[in-house]
Order: sequence, then C-alpha cells, then structure tokens
Amino acid sequence: MKSVIFIAPPAAGKGTQSSILMENYGYTHISTGDMLREEISNNTSLGVKANEIMAKGGLVDDEIIIGMVENKLNSVKGKPFILDGFPRTLNQAKALDSLLAKLNIEDIKVIYIDLDLETALKRTLGRVTCTKCGASFNLNNPDCMPKVKGICDNCQGELVVREDDNEESFRNRFETFINNTKPIVDYYKEHNNLAIIEPNNDKMVVATMIKDILNCE
Ligand SMILES: [Zn+2]
Repeated sequence: MKSVIFIAPPAAGKGTQSSILMENYGYTHISTGDMLREEISNNTSLGVKANEIMAKGGLVDDEIIIGMVENKLNSVKGKPFILDGFPRTLNQAKALDSLLAKLNIEDIKVIYIDLDLETALKRTLGRVTCTKCGASFNLNNPDCMPKVKGICDNCQGELVVREDDNEESFRNRFETFINNTKPIVDYYKEHNNLAIIEPNNDKMVVATMIKDILNCE
C-alpha cells in the first residue's frame, strides 16, 4: 500500500476519505496541526521553539515543521500514512521530497481531488454540523442527510450551519486554496507523481478510486 499526500479544496471530502483509509487499511493520519500540538504538549525541543514563535504572534517556519514531519515519519516507519494539510507551499513540497529521499520512503502518491467551485459551494451551503460531536451532514446530498431533520444521527446533538459556511466566505476560502495550491499541484504533475480524482457525490465511489490508486488491500 502506498502512503498518500492528500490535496483537496474545501468540501472535497478529504476528511471522510482519510477516515476510510484509517479504518479500513490502518493508515496513520498525519496533520501538521496535530503534530504541532503534540510536540508542544510533550515539550520537545521543536515544540518549545514553536511555542516561543507563536507566543510572539509569529508563524512557525518550514524548518520546524519539516523537523516535526521527520519525527512523525520516523515513528510510523514502514506503515502507510496520510499527509494532510502539508505541504502548503512549493518550498515545503521540495523540502518534503528531500526528506522522503533521506528516509528512503518511495511508496507515496499525491492525490488531488479536483472539485470545482460550484459543486463545492453547493455541498457547503447544505452542510450542517453537530454542536456536540462535530459530525457533519449534508442537506444537498441524499446520502449524507441526517435521519431526523436538525438532529445528529450519532449523538442526538443539535445540527447547525457553521458560521463560515456562507457563500462569500466560502468563495474566498476556495479561491485562496486554489491559488496557493496550484504551484504544488503543477510541481507534482511535472514529477509524475500526481493522481487526479474527479469528484463524486457518492463517497464510496471516491473511496474505491483512492483504494485502487494506493493499491490498498
Ligand atoms: Zn453528534
């Protein structure tokens, strides 16, 4: 099974697909946000550095992030993993390539879910989220509707529309994502390591495409 770098615009279902890979095939989910919190709470040298920078209102630089990714990749060695939310810039993508070469990790594929703005918008405007457990449902997709209107299937919590799920803020988020990500997508395309997935409202159809690309069994 190949490890995967997931790149997908908001509302593409990346979280859902990551969960499927974790539950069905034992993938480890690596997100830079989680890593950062972990290093800080464990008081590692990288965590202490990152904490100092953030306390001053600064952004944690690539060197620290790459160091954290290296620690994490060393800890999951041999097992397939999902890199989520990283790389975010072309420089990070190049640094990641060097790191993977250094760690002898070759079995890795970049998957881009090519969701267009209008489809993403339709999904987002139909989305409702549970105030208790965070599960999300979608009123614009028959497969993802809650069984009872306004009530979470999992925990009976209340379902609400997220504040940032309005059209204007979503269009901004989406466009920012596309602009920031395009150089990275082009970079992986040039290096022949990119698989592009067409979106589908049935998450299991997408899951099957991903499974085939990653040789999951
Ligand atoms: Zn819930």
